[in-house]
Amino acid sequence: MTIKDAQSTVDQWIYQYGVRYFDIKTNMIVLTEEVGELAKVIARQYGEQSVKEGDVLNLSEELADVLWVLLCIANQTGTDLTDALRQNIVKKTNRDNKRHLNNNKLQ
Ligand SMILES: [Mg+2]
Repeated sequence: MTIKDAQSTVDQWIYQYGVRYFDIKTNMIVLTEEVGELAKVIARQYGEQSVKEGDVLNLSEELADVLWVLLCIANQTGTDLTDALRQNIVKKTNRDNKRHLNNNKLQ
């Protein structure tokens, strides 16, 4: 599935099953909530927090939840994430092409 396919699939799903998109501000809050759920999994699975009784840790599900809401926000703001990611890679390459290579902390 390409990013374009993902944006289209989410858009179709929203109008078929979700009635309409939540407004952008609500989706920003939902994105924050989903990032928090992802953080919880990482803190317990890769960090120093212990797993609580009843915790269900599913990293891939939480990553997908975050991606879902990002795709929603991209769709409702008219953002082509394929183009945006391409531009972002160019920006990072121009800005950071020597930065990390010269970072002694990474050696
Ligand atoms: Mg979640």
